[in-house]
Amino acid sequence: MHQTHMIIDGEQLSISSHNAKTIYNPADQEAVAVVSSGTRQHARLALEAAKRAFAVWSETSSEKRAEILHSAAELVRERSETMARLLTQEQGKPLKNARAEILSSADILDYYAEEGRRNIGEWLATHRGRSIVIRQPVGVAALITPWNYPVDLLSWKVGPCLAAGCTFVAKPPSRAPVAATEFLRAVHEAGLPAGAVNVVHGPGEEVGAELVENPISRKIAFTGQTETGRWIMAHAADRIKRVSLELGGNSPFIVCADTDIEKAAAACAQRAFSNMGQICISVNRVYVAEEIAEEFGELLVRQAERLRIGNGLEENVDLGPMFSREQRSRTKEHVADALNKGAELLSGGREPEGEAFDKGYFFLPTVLGGADHSMRIMREETFGPVAPVMRFKTLDEAIRLANDSNYGLAAYIYTSDITTGIRAAERLEAGGVGVNINNVMDHQMPFGGWKESGIGRELGLYGLQSFLEIKHIRLGL
Ligand code: NAD
Repeated sequence: MHQTHMIIDGEQLSISSHNAKTIYNPADQEAVAVVSSGTRQHARLALEAAKRAFAVWSETSSEKRAEILHSAAELVRERSETMARLLTQEQGKPLKNARAEILSSADILDYYAEEGRRNIGEWLATHRGRSIVIRQPVGVAALITPWNYPVDLLSWKVGPCLAAGCTFVAKPPSRAPVAATEFLRAVHEAGLPAGAVNVVHGPGEEVGAELVENPISRKIAFTGQTETGRWIMAHAADRIKRVSLELGGNSPFIVCADTDIEKAAAACAQRAFSNMGQICISVNRVYVAEEIAEEFGELLVRQAERLRIGNGLEENVDLGPMFSREQRSRTKEHVADALNKGAELLSGGREPEGEAFDKGYFFLPTVLGGADHSMRIMREETFGPVAPVMRFKTLDEAIRLANDSNYGLAAYIYTSDITTGIRAAERLEAGGVGVNINNVMDHQMPFGGWKESGIGRELGLYGLQSFLEIKHIRLGL
């Protein structure tokens, strides 16, 4: 069976029986890997190693850093098939999506290799002297990530962290650490100084908490639930640490009467159901102009029912299982609550039937009609494959409903009138708005949330800057 080791100070730690944890495939409960599980002490050792390595890596030239990051990207590509299979087996997603995730993570390393070379300063002549502004690496970073995109979301942090000249300790998700650790092993083997890349496994409340509270870490880059983010922000406050928090979402999708309904329904289904709805920018609430609501609902059902469900290792599968029993239970609770409060079940709402699905956490993509804001599904993050549809009369009403949320990660609007699209985008309270597109993520552009969806931005130049401190050097002439 595959063995997943921690990496501390350039060494892989062997797994002993007392700290071994088995990872199981959510599609069939087969054992996938044995993982070493660490403690606070492992986190401390890793932070100390990262601190020693910081002295070397922060002084390494930007050209050399770029060269090493490009080599890391190449190693990830070479090993991508192995990593993708492990990712599918531990997380459930179809192999084609796992492959795309690994290759995208290699692209991120390439992107930041180049972006790091452009950490250019400023110069100003004043009548009393001269001023120089430089940006320097913030120090040792803690990178803490969730299970839904365990490699991708790690690369969003690893790339800018290393490009900025920081070193790090990563804590991958406890129940899906396998592919993420393979990714980190490739980065570690690309030529970084020992201790620059550390990975510690274990429970968030123990290993993660040590990474947040220990004075050595100067920056916490976290993706996960809003509740965990709240805890991290509060505890990072003790030492005024830099934080970037990518948290939960409950994204609205507005469909105007003037849009191409077929296109909008396909885009809505894709963003609501892919990765079994376990995406922070998933469509969670669908607001449709009342004159097209019935037709839109039918099209959405057609889209949901043509998706093929199965073990992610089978080719041509569109949807795998959900990640865990808990995820599926919460999804079922949200669907039941909506039905109790008057929603109509248009499709799905249950597990698929058949022997192939008996052992896995499978669930059918689900479409609900007649949704309203009294339902939990319209207020809380479901993190499951459900598209609840609510009707609206005017666009003002739709925008008011869309903004009636504690979350503000992504929002989408489909309309054939570009003025309507732009005006709505300006009024929607979200870190990313898709106008006639169902994805607000682009490697070169800022990604992050408003309100309780987070603080700070990842990706693009913003992602790099979040690992840099600003210094003003004043020269008296
Ligand atoms: P989670 O918050 O339970 O765990 C995330 C990570 O934090 C894990 O590695 C966990 O072990 C660790 N952790 C837990 N408690 C900790 C503590 N006290 N201190 C430090 N670390 C701790 O999240 P999850 O269930 O793994 O992921 C799903 C959530 O992630 C969803 O809410 C989803 O919306 C969110 N998410 C957000 C984005 C985004 O970019 N905004 C992207 C993907 C997922």
